[in-house]
Amino acid sequence: MTIPAETDVLIVGGGPAGALLGALLARRGIDVVVVEKQHHLDRDFRGETLAAPSVVTLHKLGFGPALAEHGYLETTAVSMRMEGREVLTVDYGRFAGRTLPIDIPQPALIGIFNEAARRPNHHYLFGTGCTGLLEEDGAIKGAVFKQQGGERFTIRARLVVGADGRFSKVRKEAGLSAHIQPMERDFVSFKLPRPAGWGNAAELVVDRDRHLVVLPTFPDFLRVGHNLPKRGFGELRKRGIEAFRDGIAAIDPRLRRPVDEHLLSWDDTGFLEIFTAEVDQWTRDGLVLIGDASHTCTPILGQGVNLAIQDVVTITPVIAAALARGARGGTVPAHVFDGFVATRKAHKSKVTGFQRMQEAALAQHTPLGVALRRLRFSTLNKLPLKYVMFEKVISVPHPVDPVDEQNAKALVAS
Ligand SMILES: Cc1cc2nc3c(=O)[nH]c(=O)nc-3n(C[C@H](O)[C@H](O)[C@H](O)COP(=O)(O)OP(=O)(O)OC[C@H]3O[C@@H](n4cnc5c(N)ncnc54)[C@H](O)[C@@H]3O)c2cc1C
Repeated sequence: MTIPAETDVLIVGGGPAGALLGALLARRGIDVVVVEKQHHLDRDFRGETLAAPSVVTLHKLGFGPALAEHGYLETTAVSMRMEGREVLTVDYGRFAGRTLPIDIPQPALIGIFNEAARRPNHHYLFGTGCTGLLEEDGAIKGAVFKQQGGERFTIRARLVVGADGRFSKVRKEAGLSAHIQPMERDFVSFKLPRPAGWGNAAELVVDRDRHLVVLPTFPDFLRVGHNLPKRGFGELRKRGIEAFRDGIAAIDPRLRRPVDEHLLSWDDTGFLEIFTAEVDQWTRDGLVLIGDASHTCTPILGQGVNLAIQDVVTITPVIAAALARGARGGTVPAHVFDGFVATRKAHKSKVTGFQRMQEAALAQHTPLGVALRRLRFSTLNKLPLKYVMFEKVISVPHPVDPVDEQNAKALVAS
């Protein structure tokens, strides 16, 4: 593939945020280059849960048929068990709109976005890492890249979008600092075949300060996450895989057989460091951050991809308008994104506030703290308020711009 020397919008990072933005801009006829450092889509395991607002958004954007063709699993509810007792169930079917979250592998989702973007004004470059930014007179004018075994090269652009995830190189190179707040736990996760008769609810199984997140996963797996003390993975490994299996089964005895049969070595597990990142400034002249690069959250309620998708639908018309207004070849100024940043920070802080509350509850370990936690959740379970609380955080999609909805009709018809 020929690499363009310049473009309108240069997106660094081809995850859910970058790939979707590339597709929507290309559909509007804007020249766009998406640059992804990995060589293929089979990336390390990432979030597979797509929250209900994102499902609504993706249907509005015309991706419904492609999602259906690939297949996915609908999550019907989230439930919480504590010290062996069911304390809370939130039935997703009771939210307004009744759309359910779905589970679909991230490579498939990104592939669907890229497929919809195929046209001459769209390039998605694999195996291309951003190593720096081009800066002139205080504005960002493009970025520097390197491919394996190749020379460094530059791509100039009217706007660079940093969509390069939680450890964003673009953010760092642009001098935009992130306040990283480590959570009290890290996470180790693994997949198991889903035992026959297992339901479609996401489950949080808690035993004092240890817990499992058990997620039915497409097509026929269970994805299990287990909390660890901060930087506790080395210690856990020292104790051996057998002790790890015993620990899992002690929290949730239903998993005894599947872990004995399928969790055979540490190669079957993945490690996730849990932190949140708050970034005060998301823009510079010629540059904006989206997705995890501007706001990393914790895995609670699977909101990372949702935030990224809502960022994209919000920013797409803003970018299109700024490019149309500005002089040909002119840099997009930072101030055009003021409204976008304010809206997205408000959503992100709602999600993070809720996640922090949950994190604090999960860290309880004293007998009194554990008993009060159980009482609090089982009381909440009896109140319709639980739906109001959860809906505020997880169930509100951002409106899709009419132009993107119109473009979606062409996609569905094709
Ligand atoms: C183990 C795990 C489980 C998760 N579970 C869920 C879940 O169930 N639901 C959910 O909603 N969220 C989940 N998340 C969070 C979710 O994966 C992220 O919030 C989401 O992927 C953010 O999308 P993004 O496009 O902003 O960033 P990313 O998905 O991180 O994509 C960034 C892309 O940029 C590329 N990149 C990085 N640096 C460079 C560079 N220098 N040059 C070029 N390319 C670069 C990366 O290779 C990557 O492909 C999980 C995260 C992890 C790690």
